[in-house]
Amino acid sequence: MIDFNRPPIVGTEQKYFQEALESGKLCGDGNFTKRASAWLENKFQVRYCYLTTSCTAALEMGSWLCSLEPGDEVIMPSYTFVSTADAFVLRGAKIVYVDIDPKTMNMNADLIEEAITDRTRAIVPVHYAGVACDMDKIMAIAKKHNLKVVEDAAQGVNAYYRGKALGTIGDYGCYSFHETKNYSMGEGGAIVFNREEDRERAEIVREKGTNRSKFFRGQIDKYTWVDYGSSYLPSELNVAYLWAQLQVFDQIQEKRMAIWNYYNETLKPLADAGYIEQPYIPDYAQHNAHMYYIKVKDLNVRTDLIRYMKEKGVLCVFHYIPLHLSEAGRRFGRFSGEDVYTTRESERLMRLPMFYNLEEKDMEYTAECLLNYPGFH
Ligand SMILES: *Cc1c(COP(=O)(O)O)cnc(C)c1O
Repeated sequence: MIDFNRPPIVGTEQKYFQEALESGKLCGDGNFTKRASAWLENKFQVRYCYLTTSCTAALEMGSWLCSLEPGDEVIMPSYTFVSTADAFVLRGAKIVYVDIDPKTMNMNADLIEEAITDRTRAIVPVHYAGVACDMDKIMAIAKKHNLKVVEDAAQGVNAYYRGKALGTIGDYGCYSFHETKNYSMGEGGAIVFNREEDRERAEIVREKGTNRSKFFRGQIDKYTWVDYGSSYLPSELNVAYLWAQLQVFDQIQEKRMAIWNYYNETLKPLADAGYIEQPYIPDYAQHNAHMYYIKVKDLNVRTDLIRYMKEKGVLCVFHYIPLHLSEAGRRFGRFSGEDVYTTRESERLMRLPMFYNLEEKDMEYTAECLLNYPGFH
């Protein structure tokens, strides 16, 4: 069976685990965390990077930093993972869903303004598949209406918008290092931002509402409870696993890109014949090969294709069921305007196996199975 995903193994994990064990300190903000966050700050040219236990946790920090009041509204696509919404619902916010652009599956920036009310406080663009949203447009709208922008760049690590790293363009950016993402620590994430004024509050929220980070820097002589907060620090063991991948950062991206390009070229005849649609990458986006998906005619074809691929021994999966169709999604939010594409496009999308250690022969076999699918003849 060809798996849909496997966590990356680069070969140096044991060495770094051993180093973490010997350091005698496995709790948060040890040596690996310090090195990894500095590395990421430098790589993505962002002032502050704080590692967290997940992207969900990073989004929660982001929603806290937006200082939302119950009843405030937050704009985002419905075609996304639950965490995007959950993090804001926890602060009492109401979610306002905006339809996607079928070409990229990202929120359609042209529909944002009509979703804005006098309760709107933030926009949360999700860079689906590591393909950038139209950030110039989104930032201009945010500026005009005085809104915060929290980028859900869970899938956008090492992807760029006009040369700028995704996550570093809005007020706050959130990354995921979950094992299904390009770079992984099992469970993990990070929040990044540039404004110095946000630093102290971010540190307090992340450290259980205390000013312990300041204490560790020697800026105060004892630490105390100063505000609300939670615990968002990952263990050093998790970060040691991520550190191994940071050492071969480009190599991981190149490998994923090679798989993505192979699928894209090999399956082109199916697109030319009108059986599938392939991913679209706008000029402004430099993607990171997070995902390779195809879109077929409709839900029936997709269901049959997933079944056929499974019979052939290849695990392909569909993706999000739109949030506004779920019970909680309806309770906590509303759809702005009409759902023209969100549901329809989500039902047509199928993802192919894509991970760092995917073997060439498995990739070739996957494409071959698709080319031979009876429904495509
Ligand atoms: C994976 C993902 C998340 C959640 O990431 P975790 O690290 O698992 O919390 C949030 N948003 C999007 C778009 C994702 O793909």
